[in-house]
Amino acid sequence: MRTRSVLISGAGVAGPTFAYWLARHGFRPTVVECAQGMRSSGSPIDVRGRAVSVAEQMGIMPQLRAAATEVTGLNFVSDSGHQVGSIPMQVMGDSVELPRFDLATILLEAARDKAEFLFEDSIATLHQDAGGVDVAFEHAPPRRFDLVIGADGLHSRTRRLAFGPEGEYVRHMGVWVATMPVDDLTLDQHKVLLHNSPGRAVSLHPGRGKTMAAFMYRGPGDENFDHRDTTDHKCRLIEAYTGAGWRVPELLQRVHEADDLYFDSVSQVRIDRWSTRRVALLGDAASCVSLFGDGSTLAMAGASTLAQALAATPADHTAAFRHYEREHRRLVAPKQRAVGQATALLIPASRFGIAARNAATRLWPLASSLQQLRRALS
Ligand SMILES: Cc1cc2nc3c(=O)[nH]c(=O)nc-3n(C[C@H](O)[C@H](O)[C@H](O)COP(=O)(O)OP(=O)(O)OC[C@H]3O[C@@H](n4cnc5c(N)ncnc54)[C@H](O)[C@@H]3O)c2cc1C
Repeated sequence: MRTRSVLISGAGVAGPTFAYWLARHGFRPTVVECAQGMRSSGSPIDVRGRAVSVAEQMGIMPQLRAAATEVTGLNFVSDSGHQVGSIPMQVMGDSVELPRFDLATILLEAARDKAEFLFEDSIATLHQDAGGVDVAFEHAPPRRFDLVIGADGLHSRTRRLAFGPEGEYVRHMGVWVATMPVDDLTLDQHKVLLHNSPGRAVSLHPGRGKTMAAFMYRGPGDENFDHRDTTDHKCRLIEAYTGAGWRVPELLQRVHEADDLYFDSVSQVRIDRWSTRRVALLGDAASCVSLFGDGSTLAMAGASTLAQALAATPADHTAAFRHYEREHRRLVAPKQRAVGQATALLIPASRFGIAARNAATRLWPLASSLQQLRRALS
């Protein structure tokens, strides 16, 4: 049987993982990525659960561990910077937390010699027929592929071309997020600091000399929002945080000058089917859980499941897509349901909510010790 060609749009987390596994299973992957090289966003993200075994099988756990942050806890701080609550963030088992940029780079390096990569390009149009998909690129000459996989993130163009406009599938979760590197701020490498005012949170997250500031605030969706308009993002952020205490004024000054600001709506993708004929969706494009829910872990796990499904029935991609969707939805669904809890914990809406959360975190060690004592006695 002839080797099947697969075009993957997006070289973030899902795309290179999928390319790696497809090549291992004897397919011919091509990855098209609109950015010049690797992703720039350095927000710390987690690799845990199923993604750890995927990474182990790829032989990249040593690189992931070497790039991992040393964070062990999250401290809630007052306007004056005093600790008013805390949550342990000890990583479980073999899981690691590392900057998103490092994860994407390590995955890309693992897939680099196994797939063809087209950087600074993007799919312009897609036309499917019974035998394949004709793809026009923005720059490269047109080509025909057996299958096309959209791993191009929350604002997936592949999804828009094959499934319809973003508004039908992307749900705003009532929160906006911005991140910005502040590498020159020196912090205790073991503690994330988080300051709240009602409906707003600001955090400083250390990671091996790379510190990331994150702003998360509650606010309604806006259908006129353009995720590429940085000037508008700066205005929105400065307006939302005016009057907030702690180190916020200093951070807003940096927002003014920032040339690497990420800003977006915290959203989920809910779509009834992840494939249509020869095109399927993967990672955030299919099922973004929002930043509060193991998106990178799910992206790696989904990529491995889809590659295995295609390898099991190489002549029947419809059956493979069905199998992948059935299996992977089981992991995604509970994560999508849990987002409300994370929002309540990290961004309480009122002063009372902030005080109650802080008090509760001070009681957790006691509750956990009682639980251990009870276990020991029984
Ligand atoms: C601020 C923030 C914090 C987060 N924190 C966590 C966390 O703590 N834990 C966690 O597990 N997850 C976290 N996530 C989520 C996690 O980053 C994503 O779920 C994960 O990266 C999804 O991987 P992906 O490959 O599907 O998409 P992405 O990583 O978004 O990659 C998509 C790729 O497609 C490319 N692309 C986009 N459009 C096109 C196009 N038209 N043509 C070609 N290429 C294109 C992009 O440049 C990008 O490289 C966070 C996300 C954000 C935004």
